Amino acid sequence: MTHELLVSGGLVVYPEKTIRADVAVEGGRVAAVAEPGRLRGKRTIEAAGCYVLPGLIDPHTHPVYLDDIASLSRSAAYGGVTTIAHYAYAKPGQSLLAILKQMRAEGEAGSCTDFALHGGLFETLKQAEEIPGAFELGVTSFKMFMAYAKLGWMTDDYAMAKAMDLIGRHGGLACIHAETGLAIDYIQDRMLAEKADFAERFLETSPDVAEAEGIFRAVSIGRLMRCPVYIPHVSSAEGLAAIRLLRERGARVFAETCPQYLGLTWEELKGRGALGKVGPAIKTEADRLALWEAAGRGLLDAIGSDHAPKPKTVEEDFFKAAYGSPEVETMLPVVWHYGVNTGRITPNAVAALLAQNAARIFGLAPRKGRLEPGADADLVVFDPAERWTVTAAAQHTKAAYSLFEGRELVGRVKKVLAGGRLIVDGEEFLGQSGQGRFLPTRAGKGGGKE
Ligand SMILES: [Zn+2]
Repeated sequence: MTHELLVSGGLVVYPEKTIRADVAVEGGRVAAVAEPGRLRGKRTIEAAGCYVLPGLIDPHTHPVYLDDIASLSRSAAYGGVTTIAHYAYAKPGQSLLAILKQMRAEGEAGSCTDFALHGGLFETLKQAEEIPGAFELGVTSFKMFMAYAKLGWMTDDYAMAKAMDLIGRHGGLACIHAETGLAIDYIQDRMLAEKADFAERFLETSPDVAEAEGIFRAVSIGRLMRCPVYIPHVSSAEGLAAIRLLRERGARVFAETCPQYLGLTWEELKGRGALGKVGPAIKTEADRLALWEAAGRGLLDAIGSDHAPKPKTVEEDFFKAAYGSPEVETMLPVVWHYGVNTGRITPNAVAALLAQNAARIFGLAPRKGRLEPGADADLVVFDPAERWTVTAAAQHTKAAYSLFEGRELVGRVKKVLAGGRLIVDGEEFLGQSGQGRFLPTRAGKGGGKE
């Protein structure tokens, strides 16, 4: 038979193998993957000399700052991301279910990529009552913060235990921002009293030991409540050590890091002022290398962007400035350049860390995360040889800066298919606002023996 579309002659990447193959697309799905020349298509996308990766899954974004879901999904598409799990934050006084419904409607109207949602609990004791209702809406993962008490964001251990009890009973997943919040608040207060230069001493307010303690405490409460725990944005060697220890004991813990922790160090960011303020802090070269080592060995499960660009300037008061940076569009090229091009990880690990693992953790497989017949035809044609320079001006986020500004990278996204439709072709955007669909998740399966 002649298929609607053929992606021809590329190196198709899976976590366990790379094969030269043609990918046939029919009705928005992968119809077949076969040796070059064996399939026929009405149209052909030439991928010779390129890798063909599954459409990336970004499990960690915040579409409520400079970028809304529409602009975030467009920037993501240029980065090869075709599925996004956004955090839907219910701030104190807000209803979790109302926020989830509102964000789903916003996504269905504006997203050019498929999307899922995580709930975010800020008034956890009260909002936990809405967790069963969230499962009925197809939301099965829930974020809580152990830090940021001064902002009113912190969940204490009692409330976390209650939420994890409910999440665990429903078969979901707790996503925990793991840092020792109150000790960090004391450190900040002491530095304020000393009139410290926060732009110079930022790392002291987000220390590696605080991350390790937070991870150990969160996952331990999860073990008590029989609730698996996902740790977003792991940033330090100490944090990885805590994860390793917990895994050895059979704890159900998943770990994510982000491109900013893999491609940058705090030393390199010092001249960037408040732009470089992200939470947890981007740490040292030793931490960066430890994260790569963990990515190569499978200690890390996923890479997410933590895309959260806010209006900031280099000069503004560092202590008062908001946390966050634009990351989603540069995520794949950064991971490829600093990981694959240096031999730290393989292209196969990229397919695992940026697609398949997140699909499995959040219950989006087999529809997402892997190029098999029957899966959605979401894929990225990636040229590993193209040399280019990151500039904020050429990015498609609404943010006017990039932490990778001026970096020369080798490897670039050339074409992106979502549901069998070409949405990015080089510089050209062919996607449509609202073409993305809401994906219910079934998070929290697997991950440890307990
Ligand atoms: Zn985040």
